[in-house]
Order: sequence, then structure tokens, then C-alpha cells
Amino acid sequence: MLQDAHGRSFEYLRLSITEVCNFSCSYCLPDGYRKKPGPGFMRLDEIARLARAFAELGTWKIRITGGEPSVRRDFTQVIETLAAIAGVRRLATTTNGYRLKENAQSWHKAGLQAINVSVDSFKPNIFHKVTGHDRLDEVKAGIDACLEANYEAVKVNAVLLKGINDNDLGSFLDYVKNRPVGMRFIELMRTGDNAAYFNRYHVPATVVSEALEREGWVRKTREPGAGPAVDYVHGDYAGSIGLIAPYSKDFCKSCNRLRVSALGKLHLCLFTEFGMNLRPLLQADEQLDELKTFLGRSLQSKAVSHFLDDGITGGNHRFADIGG
Ligand code: SAM
Ligand code: SF4
Repeated sequence: MLQDAHGRSFEYLRLSITEVCNFSCSYCLPDGYRKKPGPGFMRLDEIARLARAFAELGTWKIRITGGEPSVRRDFTQVIETLAAIAGVRRLATTTNGYRLKENAQSWHKAGLQAINVSVDSFKPNIFHKVTGHDRLDEVKAGIDACLEANYEAVKVNAVLLKGINDNDLGSFLDYVKNRPVGMRFIELMRTGDNAAYFNRYHVPATVVSEALEREGWVRKTREPGAGPAVDYVHGDYAGSIGLIAPYSKDFCKSCNRLRVSALGKLHLCLFTEFGMNLRPLLQADEQLDELKTFLGRSLQSKAVSHFLDDGITGGNHRFADIGG
């Protein structure tokens, strides 16, 4: 079992497989992805060894992320490989949805069980403004394709942005009225690159929770082992609403996740200064025990909390690099 020095257990891995993204979200990659010199992203065999080590240490949930994970040509093979690892009971991805309509079925068949699709607005002009792409209809069709394919969980992520989508809760609520979709609002987080943007657009998730409570939404009791999201339900709605509020008190107490970047670096928190390079331990099956020992030992240096409130963002310049 992976446990840290603060009594938290880690059964959830967020695994980035690429830094590349075709979108240019204003809070993440406003100028689009630019190729950097250096080693390439983890190969399929490295990803398989990494996931096996985590699974043998008790990780049962893996989320494939990026950049945009579906830009990888071998994305379906990545899904198949991870789904086949003993102990992995929940395989999820987070995507901007640009390849979803055509692939929802085949990814599900390959072993993907849950999907989060990023939609910061259901208004086409705002979606275009935030992502740099006029593709809202395609992305919505992709979400419907996931519902048809019977994924175990379909969620929509929206980053809360002051004056852009925080004044439009109604359109998000309309979306989940008759769809069994989990709408998740994520507070904008400060990164090394977006300080000015953060100061202008950050809005606390309490604007949503207060509005929900006024409209009769009820906070769900936390299940043991649940992550930091707070979930709300309402009898008149098929979907639910979740809030991720990293600036709230005690957010890190329920931390249950570790991250590995596409370059194979272990990040104990989204906001640590450095990732620990696992790549040299991913080159042969015989290294599995050494890798597991390294993971267990590294975890002991995980800090009790991020220091975002102090404006410290560590080495996180943009989420596309570590995987969000
Ligand atoms: N490209 C995929 C996508 O957008 O869904 C997966 C990677 S993206 C980095 C993962 C999630 O992080 C997305 O839901 C995105 O909106 C969110 N994100 C990116 N930058 C963020 C920031 N500065 N604060 C909060 N959430 C952010
Ligand atoms: Fe790409 Fe996701 Fe970042 Fe948007 S949030 S630029 S889709 S990686």
C-alpha cells in the first residue's frame, strides 16, 4: 500500500501520456503547444511497467491525462494495456473531446470505463473564446456518444472563470437536467505562467455552492476514500454537480492521488518544485521491485499541503505539462 507520513493512502494515479494539445485554452496553453527539446514521452512499454508497479502497490484507479491524451496515435493501445493490468479496476481519462464522437465506442470496448470531458461553456462563442476552437457541437456529440456507449461515469469539467462562465450556471444546470452526467466545476488554479490571468479570472467555488443551495441542491455525504470534490444532487435532475475548490480549507486532507508526467516524472503534488525521474527504472521488467521501493520511499517526502494560498506554485508552469 502507498501511504504517506501524514496518514493518507494513495490508490489513484493520474498518468499523463503527452504534453501535446491541439487546443489553446486561455488558462492553460494560451499560445498553443510548443515542442520542447529533450526526451520524448513515455513509450507504451514504459507506461505498462509503471502502471504495473503502481497496481502492485494497491493503485486501483488510473486516469489517463495530458496535454490531450487522445492526440497520441497509440491511445487505444494505451487503454488496452492499462485495462489489462491486474488490480486496475477503474480506468478513466480526461479529454477535450475532439476525437470523442468517432471513438467513444472503441475506447470503451478497449477497456475505458469513465470519462471526463472539458467544456468550459455551453455557449458556442464562449467555448470558442476560451479554447480557441469552434468545436462545441462536436464535443457535445462526443459526450452523447459516451452515454450511448454506457460508460460507468461520464463527467463534464468546467474551470470557473469570473465574468466568463460564473454568471451562467443556468446553462450548465439545463445540461444535466435530463442527462446522467456529473458536472464538475474546478476553481481556476494559479500556475507559474498564469498569474495575471489568475488574478483577473479566479472566482471561489462558493459562488456555485451558494447558488446550488438556494435552488434546493443537497450536499452528498462523503464516501470513505473519496477525493477532494464536494458533490451535490437534486431530485429533479438526472445529473449531479461537483465542486473542486483547491483554495478551501482542508482540501489536501483528502488527497488520494499521485501524478506521473508524460516524461515519466513522479509528482507528489501538482505544485511540487520538481518531479522525480522514474524513467531509468522503467526500462526492464526486472526493475519492478526497485521501482516499487523507490515509489514507497519517495512518498514519505510528500508535504501535508500545497502552499497555493501563499502564491507558491512550485514547478507547475501549466497543467498541460503535468496533466492537471
Ligand atoms: N486536455 C484534456 C482536457 O482539457 O480535458 C486533459 C488535460 S487538462 C490539463 C485537465 C484538466 O485540467 C481540464 O479539465 C482543464 O480544464 C483543467 N485545467 C487546466 N489548467 C487549469 C488551471 N490553471 N486551473 C484549474 N484547472 C485547470
Ligand atoms: Fe489542452 Fe486540456 Fe490544456 Fe485545454 S486544458 S489547453 S484542452 S491540455
